[in-house]
Amino acid sequence: MDPIIDLDFIDNRTPEQATAAASCDTKVTAETNTGKSRKLYIESYGCQMNFSDSEIVSSIMFEQGFDTTAHIEQADVVFLNTCSIREKAETTVRNRLGQINYFKKKKPEMVIGILGCMAERLKKSLLEEEKIVDLVVGPDAYRDLPNLISEVDGGQKAVNVLLSREETYADINPIRLNSNGVSAFISIMRGCDNMCSFCVVPFTRGRERSRDAHSIVREAEALVAQGYKEVTLLGQNVDSYKWASEDGTESVNFAQLLEMVAKLSPNMRVRFSTSHPKDITDEVLYTMKKYDNICKYIHLPAQSGNSRVLELMNRTYDRAWYLNRVDAIRAILGEDCGISSDMIAGFCSETEEEHQDTLSLMDYVQYDYSYMFFYSERPGTLAARKLEDDVPLEVKKRRLAEIIEKQRECSLNRNKRDVGRMHRVLVEGFSKKSDQQLSGRNDQNKVVIFDKKHYKKGDYVNVFVNDCSVGTLFGEAVD
Ligand code: SAM
Ligand code: SF4
Repeated sequence: MDPIIDLDFIDNRTPEQATAAASCDTKVTAETNTGKSRKLYIESYGCQMNFSDSEIVSSIMFEQGFDTTAHIEQADVVFLNTCSIREKAETTVRNRLGQINYFKKKKPEMVIGILGCMAERLKKSLLEEEKIVDLVVGPDAYRDLPNLISEVDGGQKAVNVLLSREETYADINPIRLNSNGVSAFISIMRGCDNMCSFCVVPFTRGRERSRDAHSIVREAEALVAQGYKEVTLLGQNVDSYKWASEDGTESVNFAQLLEMVAKLSPNMRVRFSTSHPKDITDEVLYTMKKYDNICKYIHLPAQSGNSRVLELMNRTYDRAWYLNRVDAIRAILGEDCGISSDMIAGFCSETEEEHQDTLSLMDYVQYDYSYMFFYSERPGTLAARKLEDDVPLEVKKRRLAEIIEKQRECSLNRNKRDVGRMHRVLVEGFSKKSDQQLSGRNDQNKVVIFDKKHYKKGDYVNVFVNDCSVGTLFGEAVD
């Protein structure tokens, strides 16, 4: 899963400056300009799943007469698609609403809606707490947006936060937002049944359900036809993907789905996220090995390296089980397979020795990358109800700094292994620093920068890597 985006809006910026900054840090809708009568602006926060949901929302709203815009001041309707995973994610949205108030004052008819996890968690109370909000819509209620918008047009406030056991939006063709035209995301399932004790997702996104395998394949096929070169299959726990046809004659597990998508085109790379250590099977690993176009990269969040803490987290595996899965990855897919993790520092009652276990796990696995956080208690979760959030903030922060430092060491070690070797890179666009250089990713999802020569976005290029930093590989294209 992609990192949760940290947005630190600095209060002394003007709302216009903050909006410009938001467009860099969050995902903001692009201009569609197809001549529709009203304009929709969506700012999406949080994980990739939310960005993918905003594409579904844009599609539903397009049918209702809305083009998307990248300029908040031109919008008739403004949606914030929100994240609740840590307290800071929610504070960011609340600060942002303060800034959006400035635009609403200039254009009072502007409709403001909160979508996603914050809407689900706070429900109607958001309308009371945030006076400028007109609309609160949970992640399973997007089909109801047209009705809700009419209610608001009629002068009322509107809320729908019903969770569903069936909704997968399988039949909705997402409008690709901010797409580079090369890689796209496909949601293959929604919700989560895991109940990790720290996590709000099961409460905000509901029960786990898998999307019709054929609708996923059709979406991937359409992307191939449009010239896309990479799809990422998304779910909170892709390994528990399981779809069965209504008549019970057909059933598809994750390894089988992966194979169905990989077979569509050898030129289409397939990625997936997130894998759960308790569920990832050797069958998935062998399917990855069988197809060159399934990228050899696995996001396998450990959260902690200590078995007692993992039990308190209700992760349902221990350190030995996790290491066994890492060994299986190395045995089946080899040392080159990229592995990344999510880590939480300072979970309830974590001792110094237990924190050291996280560092030693990182030493063993040698992650290519990690998304690292300190524990943030979320209301209503198992941990909030049953465990004391007793590690002081400064200790959490110091442990997090140590985890980050350890990860920098591991990333550099892993990147140095890549120097002096050839990598197949899919070009995503220009490098951030120069339009004379291109930026793309290798199989292991690492960013590779090289001189552009005659290459362009969407090309597969063989790049000889001759240098690296902690976060990037540098090389030369070889014709
Ligand atoms: N489903 C994925 C999994 O099980 O690994 C992760 C989904 S969650 C959106 C992304 C990450 O946020 C988690 O892996 C965890 O590291 C982090 N996270 C979730 N709840 C948290 C909390 N209360 N405090 C700090 N980090 C948290
Ligand atoms: Fe949250 Fe755990 Fe589900 Fe991931 S698997 S979304 S961490 S409950």
